[in-house]
Amino acid sequence: MCEQREKFISEKLRLMEELCKKHKLSLTVQRRAILENLASRTDHPTADQIYASIQHRISGISRTTVYRVLETFVHLGLAQKISNPEAKARFDADTRRHHHAFCTTCEEVMDVFSDTLSTLDVPDVGHDFVMRDYSVNFTGLCGKCLSEAAPVRITEKGVT
Ligand SMILES: [Zn+2]
Ligand SMILES: [Zn+2]
Repeated sequence: MCEQREKFISEKLRLMEELCKKHKLSLTVQRRAILENLASRTDHPTADQIYASIQHRISGISRTTVYRVLETFVHLGLAQKISNPEAKARFDADTRRHHHAFCTTCEEVMDVFSDTLSTLDVPDVGHDFVMRDYSVNFTGLCGKCLSEAAPVRITEKGVT
């Protein structure tokens, strides 16, 4: 793991300790393990994926607990739920304004950092609505899926 990521994880854990103290939440082993797992990855996992990677280490943890803890993190501002074309919620420990590219074949989600997109002169959306944040989502094919996609062939019978 790169040094930068390790720094990000320890900074996140420190922030969680601070927020738990402030909101009088106990700093459980489960909360710590879930945040550590989320902060260590960049694949924008679902609650199930996090559960799958920590369940062997944390005895008695359930899927429901993982989901509930992630929701708490979102409320505390430690993580964000990212919008994506799937029904499943995906989580991101990086709460800076950034954007995502979603591969419609393998469902991989990649971060997109763009000054142009992050400083858009966003129009007033109306409806007495105060906007706090926004993100731009791209859908398409990732490099891996693109190289594996069957090339389109055009024959006398048409496109196959
Ligand atoms: Zn893909
Ligand atoms: Zn992200």
